[in-house]
Amino acid sequence: MNLIEYVTENLGEYKQYGEEINLKECPFCGKSKWKFYLNRKNGLYNCFHASCRAKGHINKLATEKEITIDDDFEQGTNNQLKEVDFDFSKLGYLNRSGKEYLIGRGISNDTLEQMKYQVLQKNDWIIFLYSEKTMLVGFKARNIKEKRFFSAKGSKAVLFNFDYVDFDKPLLIVEGEIDCLSALESGIDNVVSVPFGVSNLDWINNHFEDLKKFPEIILAFDNDEPGRKANTEVIRRLEDEECNTLISVLELKEYKDLNEALNDEKDLQEIIKLNKKEITIQDVIAFEDIDTEFKEYERYRTGIKGLDMYLGGIRMGEVSIFSGSAGSGKSTLANQLLVQGILLGYRGYIFSGELPNNQLSRWIIKQFCNEKDLYKKTDSYTEKIEYYPTKDASERVKRTLGDKLLVDEKSTIYYKELLKKMEFLIKRNGIKIFLIDNLMKVDCGEAIETSENEVKFVSGLKDLVNKYQVHIMLVAHPRKPDSTGKTGQYDIYGSSKIPNLVDNIIFVKRLVSEDDWKTIPEIQREQLRNLQISTIITQHKSREGFELGGGVPLNFSGKTNRFYINKINEINIESENDFEKSLDEIEKLLGV
Ligand SMILES: [Zn+2]
Repeated sequence: MNLIEYVTENLGEYKQYGEEINLKECPFCGKSKWKFYLNRKNGLYNCFHASCRAKGHINKLATEKEITIDDDFEQGTNNQLKEVDFDFSKLGYLNRSGKEYLIGRGISNDTLEQMKYQVLQKNDWIIFLYSEKTMLVGFKARNIKEKRFFSAKGSKAVLFNFDYVDFDKPLLIVEGEIDCLSALESGIDNVVSVPFGVSNLDWINNHFEDLKKFPEIILAFDNDEPGRKANTEVIRRLEDEECNTLISVLELKEYKDLNEALNDEKDLQEIIKLNKKEITIQDVIAFEDIDTEFKEYERYRTGIKGLDMYLGGIRMGEVSIFSGSAGSGKSTLANQLLVQGILLGYRGYIFSGELPNNQLSRWIIKQFCNEKDLYKKTDSYTEKIEYYPTKDASERVKRTLGDKLLVDEKSTIYYKELLKKMEFLIKRNGIKIFLIDNLMKVDCGEAIETSENEVKFVSGLKDLVNKYQVHIMLVAHPRKPDSTGKTGQYDIYGSSKIPNLVDNIIFVKRLVSEDDWKTIPEIQREQLRNLQISTIITQHKSREGFELGGGVPLNFSGKTNRFYINKINEINIESENDFEKSLDEIEKLLGV
């Protein structure tokens, strides 16, 4: 008989997804949780029930019942479908040295046996396999002789062991694979580990909807500052009034992490029962609970040293207005600062009512390019020289950006809708830097209420940055000069209340006409002209109280659309990351 006939006659209820046959009941553990998967192409099966984890070839199961399946199964030693282009058959099960290492950390042979398909070994490396919906999507390795780790480049940010969890039971989320094994050791089956440490929360993006299915989520990150910071951030992103998932935090008290607690011969189930605390982020806090310790606030460098000295970097928890007359480069500067944030690993969002998406993306691609990535073309109509990114460069930038930059397709949007969307994107996608270009393109209702609604909109932005520690850049036109022809420092378009609501106001001024140059003290003019300065950035308000006045003279490259001082900085989009290794490097490291 063929495979489908065999399944229908012998294995009960099932569903089909592409190549995968999903059985309601596992023929090994008998649990009816839809956790048993069988691949039609290669005949390999896998039970994703945490206490079972049965794995093998369907032919073997059939032969036991003296049935022959006549399908031509694809040959191969890979027992799981994969998205990573790596030959996993080169890895082996844990051998003596790997087992000794893990047993030394309090993990028993039984637990290692239970995890034998997810924790492999090659030479001195223990390898943890990451899967998503039964597909291998990445792996990480830890050396047993020295403190070295790596993750395979391109590994997807999913939770370790997530395929094996039960949505009906509380989920424990821990900081590393060893903590995950420690929880399993204490009989806690519904446990997963974050993939890349607690400073990277991209796994939330990939499991967002699924995480809301659990009755409870218990966070058990390390007992240190990054662990506590992650607690707050995870709670903020997962908190949802319409969802019943309870979120609590495990207080480890005297222990550094779960593994340490386990090795102190403590029963982790007991510790969790006693020390987990339900946390809700409240609007008010008792004075004694305020954390008064000095903390470096989260911020990033603009990539232009002089500008960093002037602005103090781009700080999370603040709203900045970028203003300046038409053609001054206010949008370009804001774009450039967003690009810089993305290069440093943040996720960004742009709403641009000014430019259509394809124009905006060409503009952004150029900001990610170096001069050598651009070619020159003379427009046959205007005879102007224009610079375009090469196809290779465009592809590289697109690949690097992936889903790190979201571009809104709308050209206008009602302010309440935009605020709601921004909050959703912070939670769902982990967006940290927003660029709204510009305030006039945000629909604030009928003329009679516009001014009032603009104030509501900007107040809403301020609430978002406070609550979620993100940065929002808002481009706004300057107010039309009054009869005296002057614009004062707070004269930006819209209600006069807006400047009071935001943290920073940055003006961009291009030096084109003689009148523009006259605004520069005479003593500096010649020097700035010699340096080919084209733009002055001035700051009119700063929450951090950095010195106001003065200004920063900037050069501008019409090729890459980037501002700079003295020398344009090279963009390096293949960011250096010691932790991530390419598959070639990995083969060398593992000796395969
Ligand atoms: Zn099973």
